[in-house]
Amino acid sequence: MLRAFLDILFPPLCHICRTFIPGAGPLHICAGCREAITPISSPLCDLCGMPFVTIGGSDHRCGACSLSPPRFDSARAATRFDGPIREMIHRFKYDRRVQLARPLGLITSETLAPWIALTSADLVVPVPLHVRRLRQRGFNQAILIGQVLARQWQLPLDRTCLRRIRWTEPQVNLAATERAVNVRGAFAVSAPSRVEGRRVLLVDDVFTTGSTVAECARTLKGAGAAEVRVVTVARAVA
Ligand SMILES: [Zn+2]
Ligand SMILES: [Zn+2]
Repeated sequence: MLRAFLDILFPPLCHICRTFIPGAGPLHICAGCREAITPISSPLCDLCGMPFVTIGGSDHRCGACSLSPPRFDSARAATRFDGPIREMIHRFKYDRRVQLARPLGLITSETLAPWIALTSADLVVPVPLHVRRLRQRGFNQAILIGQVLARQWQLPLDRTCLRRIRWTEPQVNLAATERAVNVRGAFAVSAPSRVEGRRVLLVDDVFTTGSTVAECARTLKGAGAAEVRVVTVARAVA
């Protein structure tokens, strides 16, 4: 009764296609759009989480990780960075639709639940933004997603231990090798005692080449973090 009344006052619309969905769950995404979201599944690189094109087989190390292992212990993304997820992330970040943090976080916590069950972590650390970027955007998307993940996985969130101390050019215009150079030395740990000996779950919205999270991991480990695992909503897959 109350539900029906609320549906009239605030009709639940799909976050992606804006169609009416009666009895919408917490996600507010219709069945059609949900189906168009491609979760990342095995076989994948057990280190960086990159999915392999082969259908069968087990997880193993990819060529790039065998050649030069990244500084994080492992990385996983819930979905591919395409279709409805790409659209949602764009609207979330560039149209300031901050309410999309919740469905994006819930999709991530749900999809990566089996992985997180095998991964013991002590705290959630979002990838920080430079204060200049923060002023431009008005919010840090990684903090908003990190809040949902921390709540779902019952872990503390530390949004200030890792800071971005140097302004960097947007990674989007750079090639993979340039990206690594661009973010080198861009981060610092403000309170090493908060990460020392701890297993950190580093959170960001999109994993592209992994150079930003790898640099964060290098910085966190330099400050004494025991482990750094990376969680992102989506991953760019070539
Ligand atoms: Zn829809
Ligand atoms: Zn890999």
